[in-house]
Amino acid sequence: MPIKSRVRTIEHYPRPGIMFRDITTLLKDPVGFQLLIREFVGRYRYMQIDKVVGIESRGFILGAPVAYEIGAGFVPIRKPGKLPAQTVGQDYELEYGTDRVEIHTDAILPGDRVLLIDDLVATGGTALASVALLQTLQAQVVECAFAIDLPDLGGMARLQALGLETFTITA
Ligand code: IMP
Repeated sequence: MPIKSRVRTIEHYPRPGIMFRDITTLLKDPVGFQLLIREFVGRYRYMQIDKVVGIESRGFILGAPVAYEIGAGFVPIRKPGKLPAQTVGQDYELEYGTDRVEIHTDAILPGDRVLLIDDLVATGGTALASVALLQTLQAQVVECAFAIDLPDLGGMARLQALGLETFTITA
């Protein structure tokens, strides 16, 4: 597991009882970072992706180099109030309360082939809200890709139940 073994787990962060997967240990390692980005690039290079959409903030770190390497554009999905031009937003449920993601309305053209990328999928709430935004803009969501899946929390299964293609790193 040359990639996953470089991810560190922090117990009781950000709250008691949470096991936080910390990818900074993977990213700071030049070999680990290259292996990770190459996994995504190898998979998506020939899938005719128009835009790689990264979810704030660790999705930016992964999405930007992948977009560059496969010759796609990069589009950020951000937390509320961060994007300067006209946006469309989607609220979603958290364990306690709600959150929201936003995207520029002109970031995606109808029919754009989009790869959605984030560091980790847990309950899938963030990714599902992001997919909803992309579908509002009439994107074709080719796949949702994550470095880490926490299968016990069911996010990947929720995405798949909607007919979405998913990918996670196994190495
Ligand atoms: P979900 O919406 O429950 O699937 O949570 C996924 C979102 O929360 C992603 O944007 C992740 O970056 C973040 N997240 C949740 N748990 C962790 C973790 O253990 N490590 C790093 N990010 C996490």
